[in-house]
Amino acid sequence: MIDIDEKIKSLNECENCQDIQIKKFSPLKDLINFEEYDGDYMRCECGKRPLDVVMSHVLKIMIESEIVGEKATLRRNSPVPLSNFYFSSLNPQFIQTKSLILLHQDFTPEVASKLIDEVPEVVCVLKGSPRDVAGQLNKDSPISHFEILEGDDTQINVMRTILGDKIVLVKNQSKHHIEVAMTTEEKLLRLHNFIKNNDIKKATAIDAMCGLGALGIYLLKCGFEKVIFNDINPEMIDALENNLKINDIDGGFEIHNQSFENLDVEHAELCVIDAFPGVDIEEITKKAEEIADNVVII
Ligand SMILES: [Zn+2]
Repeated sequence: MIDIDEKIKSLNECENCQDIQIKKFSPLKDLINFEEYDGDYMRCECGKRPLDVVMSHVLKIMIESEIVGEKATLRRNSPVPLSNFYFSSLNPQFIQTKSLILLHQDFTPEVASKLIDEVPEVVCVLKGSPRDVAGQLNKDSPISHFEILEGDDTQINVMRTILGDKIVLVKNQSKHHIEVAMTTEEKLLRLHNFIKNNDIKKATAIDAMCGLGALGIYLLKCGFEKVIFNDINPEMIDALENNLKINDIDGGFEIHNQSFENLDVEHAELCVIDAFPGVDIEEITKKAEEIADNVVII
């Protein structure tokens, strides 16, 4: 079992942690001495290093490996830094060891090994662009992943909710588009407001494209008698089953692994749609209106 409170506490810096800001728009080579950088450079006694120092260390290795140019800057050339643990809107500026998941389209296996070996904060190196869709768009499209070059891509997201209860989602970042806890938290709030403002009866609800299950788990926690989870991607169903256990939900749900247009379920009071960005939702909305009294697009 994951000790969430302990993990949340570990995100905080200690009183001796010193922030170092490095200019984002100037070539990194003009700003720091590459010779000085190793895994202990600027490390606090608590084990953490400032984000800018860690990302400079990462970019230094990328420059030396020639996957980015000599004039690379933190702003233009850094990989996407993701944490393997997010709590609400907290975006730590001091990074602990084995906590950073990096995503960049030009990573190679050699660079990935170097990053894992030399930068103690890096836990996983993924190849891909943040603009790529990881997952499955619709029934005609394949399941796509970010490629794991090295390390463990497990990411834990902890959302606060208006109910007081936290929701915990565990995912494999390689199999999922990038969505951090804060974004999911905003969706939960929109869902909460929709139910309240429209006085929705808390009977049966459908989480039509459930993914990791955040919205449906929320519906169960806020009192719906039954939630029908559905996702076309079998990998999301595996993640959902894990997340239901983690959130202590042991009944009141059905799970379907269907394309939404083929979903054949009982009529519901509410259908929640959280589609991939950019997906045409006209057909989806029409289907949703056939099977539920109320439809909310999150
Ligand atoms: Zn410290």
